[in-house]
Amino acid sequence: MIKIDIVDQEIIKDSNRKKIVQLLYKKKELTKQDISKELEISIPTVTSNINALIKEGIVEEAGMAESTGGRKPIIIRFLPNSRYAFGVDFSLEIIRIALTNLNSEIIYETSMDIKGFYNIDEAIRKIEMEIKHILNEKKISIDKVLGIGFSLPGTVNEEDMVLEMAPNLKIKNIVFKEFTDILKLPVYIENEANAAAFAELTLGIAKEMRNLAYISITEGIGTGIVIQDYLYKGKNKRAGEFGHMTIVADGKPCNCGKKGCWELYASDRALIEGYCSRANQKKVSLKDFFYKLKCEDPIAKEAWESYLDYLAIGIQNIILLLDPHYVVIGGKIGQYPGILESLKEKVFIQNTFYNENDIKILISTLKENASILGAALLPMQKLFFIKRKII
Ligand SMILES: [Zn+2]
Repeated sequence: MIKIDIVDQEIIKDSNRKKIVQLLYKKKELTKQDISKELEISIPTVTSNINALIKEGIVEEAGMAESTGGRKPIIIRFLPNSRYAFGVDFSLEIIRIALTNLNSEIIYETSMDIKGFYNIDEAIRKIEMEIKHILNEKKISIDKVLGIGFSLPGTVNEEDMVLEMAPNLKIKNIVFKEFTDILKLPVYIENEANAAAFAELTLGIAKEMRNLAYISITEGIGTGIVIQDYLYKGKNKRAGEFGHMTIVADGKPCNCGKKGCWELYASDRALIEGYCSRANQKKVSLKDFFYKLKCEDPIAKEAWESYLDYLAIGIQNIILLLDPHYVVIGGKIGQYPGILESLKEKVFIQNTFYNENDIKILISTLKENASILGAALLPMQKLFFIKRKII
């Protein structure tokens, strides 16, 4: 009995501390009285937590508030630059590294080209060197860094710390736990679209919204599902692999081994390939393609229309499967002006099940930073969140 009581006490203590940090993070400045009132925690408990947080440098005393009768209360201020976190985003040809503070502001950002992921150990060593360099440059001590979060384009078991498979990177079963020693920091991993969905939920457009499907369009397509504030990952942590749902029976062969997967028709790569095959061209950048589209190039227009048709079919399937409040589109394609209107027209074509008033389609406000910010948020969970937000 005594043992259980001690455990309970510890959990309550930890949860009080996290609630206080979370509230101060949101409101930036509050008096102890405000905190006590808002969280329904006694003043002595608030005071002892605040004293500990001041000692750790996470908050500071910042003058007096107006008195409501009696002594003027002290203002407690949250210090966003008291701790930092790294976000690392892996994609096909590039690794992006960002250092953020507790307000998820990017303090430093860099990237490195990577030719294939055959030597993951070498990539990790390069990241370690880059991290050392960044901390040196910004004069930040490593003990102020909460950890490194990795955003990975594949199936991720975040509990066992394994990237189970990333068909487009052609790697599988990478155990990230082993990299903690090299990186000398706590390591966290998450699927790229899940990390982006987590960022949208915490910082972006979905802040006030609880059910959403996040569609990350890059060289492939990843999707993150949020149900009532929780990332839905399913029994084997593979939920949301909508990029590999079959859109064309017996269609193009995919790196995953199947045929006709959605991402072969609705990713950045698919758009470019669709244009190049029509224009009989070898390669064109996404930027150049959008320029041609803006200039009303007829081949670009045709490729765009066909691309949007496939994108819309996938979104329709997701809506039928999940009936979410919101579908958020992330990635460079989402930034093209006018995409939303054209896409909505195609998604909400006359049907029996839903119309434009039932589900909102939105463009990510975090743009290309959604997944890297989500990755950097992973180490911060220890400071802010009472329980892991994954089901
Ligand atoms: Zn596939």
